[in-house]
Amino acid sequence: MELNNMNDVVVIGSGPAGLTAALYTARANLSPLVLEGEPSSTSDQPGGQLMLTTEVENFPGFPDGVLGPVLMEQMRAQAERFGARLFGAKATRVKFQSGGPHTVWYRDPSTGDEAQVEARAVIVAMGARSLMLGLPREHELLGHGLSTCATCDGFFFRGQHIAVVGGGDSAVEEATFLTKFAETVTIVHRRGELRASKIMQDRALKNPKIRFAWDSVATELVGQSKVEGLKLRNVKDGSETVLPVTGVFVAIGHSPNTDVVRGELELDPDGYVVTSDGTTATSVDGVFAAGDIADRRYRQAVTAAGSGCAAAIDVERWLESHSAH
Ligand code: NAP
Repeated sequence: MELNNMNDVVVIGSGPAGLTAALYTARANLSPLVLEGEPSSTSDQPGGQLMLTTEVENFPGFPDGVLGPVLMEQMRAQAERFGARLFGAKATRVKFQSGGPHTVWYRDPSTGDEAQVEARAVIVAMGARSLMLGLPREHELLGHGLSTCATCDGFFFRGQHIAVVGGGDSAVEEATFLTKFAETVTIVHRRGELRASKIMQDRALKNPKIRFAWDSVATELVGQSKVEGLKLRNVKDGSETVLPVTGVFVAIGHSPNTDVVRGELELDPDGYVVTSDGTTATSVDGVFAAGDIADRRYRQAVTAAGSGCAAAIDVERWLESHSAH
């Protein structure tokens, strides 16, 4: 693809946030350039975290559910139809200056060399990744009994025995939520006490459906094409057991994909982009953030898409008041 050197708007990222920002800015005649990322086996890939899921049943408008990759393909086609320029390259670094223009470097997929584009406004939408345990076959079994999102997948485990790995607020919150569906939920934690807040701990300890595997680390996902068990090792006595579960939820934290913008945008202590005044504006005038990269709280495809729309509207207004448009 032939890229213009100067662009009204460059969108970095192609999950629900980036593609919705692309759709809206395209329909505002801003001809957005979207740096979609490069194929990889993690959530840091074109299409984002939904590319690693199977059935999505909570995205409005799909009463029969939709496969994550199909939903992303449809969002992509919709953005393209209105003139978004989608480019399968990964942003490697950026230089932002207040009021713009901003420079975004990317790895040219055909040559492997670094190249650059300029933009009056930039939307950063690189998402976040769930931290994983690093077990063999994790990526294969994601969406086949292994999940990182109870809100998304809990429904599929009605009446089943499942495990949640982690000991923080996320793990306890997910485990509590999952008891609505599952027969039992075993929280697997590597220490003998939870990190989660006291009130959430108390709630979990009182819940008759929640059990605990203390001082235990997960060492293996059992099962060929879907999860049929979780092998645990007790860190105190070295003993091994297999927990007979059909679902494993990993809840050991998230990490925003902000390496590329570190030093250029204000980030909070956990690395999320800081936005101001209930808008998508970042610490640099003319740079906006959408989706999970700036959202530690909701982390849903639909909230990411909503904030992509908000970022596009913020960009449109910002360009109107700052440029020769
Ligand atoms: P977190 O507080 O960092 O807890 C991560 C948990 O996972 C810890 O218990 C940790 O064990 C465990 N862990 C980390 N790496 C592991 C590994 N490789 N193998 C096994 N276990 C591992 O993360 P979080 O629970 O996602 O919470 C993040 C932040 O969001 C926190 O500030 C939390 O309070 C907040 N939050 C709040 C709510 C709420 O208030 N409703 C809900 C969710 C999250 P150790 O304890 O041994 O370190």
